[in-house]
Amino acid sequence: MKDLLCDEFQNTVSELLIRHQSILDVLSKLQEASARINRAVTKAVTSCGCIKVNAEKRSVPNNISISELKGYIDSHLNGQLCPNCQEIVEAEIGRDLFYLAALCNHLDLNLYDIFIKEHKKLSTLRFFNFT
Ligand SMILES: [Zn+2]
Repeated sequence: MKDLLCDEFQNTVSELLIRHQSILDVLSKLQEASARINRAVTKAVTSCGCIKVNAEKRSVPNNISISELKGYIDSHLNGQLCPNCQEIVEAEIGRDLFYLAALCNHLDLNLYDIFIKEHKKLSTLRFFNFT
């Protein structure tokens, strides 16, 4: 399948990825980018305070179905990213996408095909995908 935006993004990544051409560099930069997303969200909680984490053990009855489970769990997240934190988190997610596209380029994989396959899998398996 083809998606012009996704393909164009992969091509741009291919053109710009000069410094970290080794697959090892791409893998480690991808992991670093994911860690930076975690850091940006953490800083939104601990430095800015625009979002808060209020986590506790979940109390879930034993006899509920998987579809009912959603009513008993939450993200433990309160609030919303302020514009500054949103900009930072988006930038870090963008960096992650850059190295994800670079990994796809190195392995001759099409990011859009992966997106479509994953979407089909999620649509078909629904709740049972994560059990
Ligand atoms: Zn904030």
